Amino acid sequence: MANDQYNHTAWSNGDATNIQDGLSAQELFANRDGLTYNDFIILPGYIDFTADDVDLASPLTKQISLRAPLVSSPMDTVTESDMAIAMALCGGIGIIHHNCTPEYQANEVMKVKKYKHGFIRDPVVMSPSNRVTDVLEAKKKNGFTGIPITENGKLGGRLVGIVTSRDIDFREHDGQLLLSDVMTKLDDMITAPNGVTLQEANRILETSKKGKLPIVNDAGELVALIARTDLKKARSYPNASKDSNKQLLVGAAIGTRLEDRNRLAQLVQAGVDVVVLDSSQGNSVYQLDMIRFIKNTYPALQIIAGNVVTRQQAKNLIDAGADALRVGMGSGSICITQEVMACGCPQATAVYQVSSYAREFGVPIIADGGISSIGQIVKALALGASTVMMGSLLAGTSEAPGEYYFSDGVRLKKYRGMGSLEAMERKDAKGAAMSRYFHTEIDKLHVAQGVSGSIVDKGSALLFLPYLKCGLQHSCQDIGARSVLALRKMIYTGELRFMKRTHSAQLEGNVHGLFSYEKRLF
Ligand code: IMP
Repeated sequence: MANDQYNHTAWSNGDATNIQDGLSAQELFANRDGLTYNDFIILPGYIDFTADDVDLASPLTKQISLRAPLVSSPMDTVTESDMAIAMALCGGIGIIHHNCTPEYQANEVMKVKKYKHGFIRDPVVMSPSNRVTDVLEAKKKNGFTGIPITENGKLGGRLVGIVTSRDIDFREHDGQLLLSDVMTKLDDMITAPNGVTLQEANRILETSKKGKLPIVNDAGELVALIARTDLKKARSYPNASKDSNKQLLVGAAIGTRLEDRNRLAQLVQAGVDVVVLDSSQGNSVYQLDMIRFIKNTYPALQIIAGNVVTRQQAKNLIDAGADALRVGMGSGSICITQEVMACGCPQATAVYQVSSYAREFGVPIIADGGISSIGQIVKALALGASTVMMGSLLAGTSEAPGEYYFSDGVRLKKYRGMGSLEAMERKDAKGAAMSRYFHTEIDKLHVAQGVSGSIVDKGSALLFLPYLKCGLQHSCQDIGARSVLALRKMIYTGELRFMKRTHSAQLEGNVHGLFSYEKRLF
């Protein structure tokens, strides 16, 4: 193998020009062992900038660039519209899962595209013929009152009033009273026209001292609601991922069956920006056919193909026209693919091999699975990935689908593999099971490739994602990379230095020697 890395003169710290410790990425993987993120460490570089200066922008696909290299996984316990909105607000992107009917998935995509910061687009709405008890029930469930009343009891109906807590206070014993008898009527309400800006709405709420501001169109129909409490919380997200219409970016996963073409049509109609062809082994004739179909039918749509872990697999998908590749097989936290299928690849090796091949074609790589800390995100980027895809790290946040529950006093949310029996056999209101782990119509007997478990409550992704980004900036600073793009360049000049970690080195690198400790991260 070439040892010419020692001749590189790209160093910037004066006298140290010709001194290099550790290994280049090429040397790290030279003997073709299967390495994981834990098997190596990145050596520190030279700091002449602040962590704040570090630019995290990185491409997701050939044509879409993100302000933060973070992607949420298309799993039914990770990404629906709430997660996708949080991801996009923080500069990343969410991929809506497809373990649901096409209609449900397209509607989730639409919610992200229609999202306007501070505006509630699907408020609880009632009709004049609802009763006080319905409002009390809603209050118990959602914790708020201030319910707009429309003629038909739905968003889009003609607004006729609003019920606030002032209207129903002390009415607990009059549960059967009609809302038409207690509501504040339209003439006594303040509303704002469709198109009002958040600042204007803020001013109206402040001067009127109201808690809720219904937004109506020219026909007097309710189109949205603004809540004073939300405005107080509303921060600005200058680095949000947006399209040219200033709408948030969103992706969606699909399979490669014929009926997925119908699903895709609905997703495109809803405004999806990028599709992920969701398969654990993406190097298949089905995926090649689907890529060609999409490129012919929707030439503007970006396609993320995969998953792959070898250069041969990547070649087929790149040749067919993939705009990015998802890399990982068997590294996910809920995954038993390597155990059951005896097929897969240690993740660090897969990411390095595939990305060093795909970069020759300008195809970005998403390192998918096995990311459980900021350090592992950095390692994936330092091996050539442009972005990382996360499941377990985001599951358990309040934006992940599913309700919290308590077990032994701990607040938990469910997290499960999409190849777990539970996910594959899903039959609920959201609809039919998906096909990530089925290859043919006759795959009737399910062979599980994933497990189902739980994750501790992590609070809001809107707080967790800034923590990840800030950590990434500090890590890049330690490494001496002013940006994610610079970090990637340093891999191929040999400037980025790595070292293998023995088992004892790994133990040394973790907390040790304490009787007990608390690991608070932010
Ligand atoms: P995590 O971030 O380590 O939890 O891994 C998430 C990734 O695991 C996903 O993005 C998928 O690529 C993969 N995955 C999801 N469900 C399964 C499964 O049931 N078996 C194997 N891999 C899975």
